[in-house]
Amino acid sequence: MAASDELEYLKTLVSQLNAKIEALEAKAKKAVASHKTPAHQLRTILMGPPGAGKGTQAPRIREEFCVCHLATGDMLREQVTKKTKLGVEAKKIMDAGGLVSDDIMVGMIKDQLEHNQECKNGFVLDGFPRTVPQAEKLNSMLQARKEKLDSVVELVYDDQLLNSRITGRLIHPASGRTYHKEFNPPKKPFVDDVTGEPLVQRSDDNVEALRKRLAVFHTQTGPVVEYYKAKGLWRPIDAAQSPALVWDNLRRVFAKQQ
Ligand code: AMP
Repeated sequence: MAASDELEYLKTLVSQLNAKIEALEAKAKKAVASHKTPAHQLRTILMGPPGAGKGTQAPRIREEFCVCHLATGDMLREQVTKKTKLGVEAKKIMDAGGLVSDDIMVGMIKDQLEHNQECKNGFVLDGFPRTVPQAEKLNSMLQARKEKLDSVVELVYDDQLLNSRITGRLIHPASGRTYHKEFNPPKKPFVDDVTGEPLVQRSDDNVEALRKRLAVFHTQTGPVVEYYKAKGLWRPIDAAQSPALVWDNLRRVFAKQQ
């Protein structure tokens, strides 16, 4: 090939490559732009009796708003599985449907807020605060961090209907994914759809422990609802609707905050 032809060929090649690079760059830019970049921070609490659907909705909030999901029950169960000193003590209380001490629970949340990078953009608290002293301590913690709660959402659900929800509940311990033997069964019985790992039933998901957990919810956590009502943060949602409708209502609550 003559030198001039070769030059012409190389120039064409370069311009073709440049066009290709430009197209790829544009594509990459579009992908970055469409990736969820949270426009605002979100700090919310999800309340409600056991079985109201907190464990179903909270992971969606985490995904949608890029915040951390702090579920104190899951944190305690992790300690139980690891058989730590705290885990051994906590298991007895949890199986009896009682509450672990405020100091321990507040310490756990404080540690997460300070060290968990996923909490940088905010959080969804699930199962905390469960008592007024926990709510007060959370308040001082947030004040010290110059952060504010956006909302406290209560998933409202009738006690009479909770029995069947709780006793049929199946959990994937590693992810916190929940199923129901009857209402939301996994594809294969007792197997997680995503990982294929076994599902378990929580040791406190039985009729007797539920009775105690509900009593504790009304006596200890009821006043927490009043505490947040007084602050104008309480937002009730009917949790007897389908999970999709509950999610729509949640999004509406969060949209109003922006
Ligand atoms: P949960 O998974 O939220 O239903 O929590 C399971 C159990 O863990 C409860 O019944 C309590 O024994 C204990 N627990 C979880 N969160 C708290 C909390 N904030 N304060 C006291 N005990 C808690």
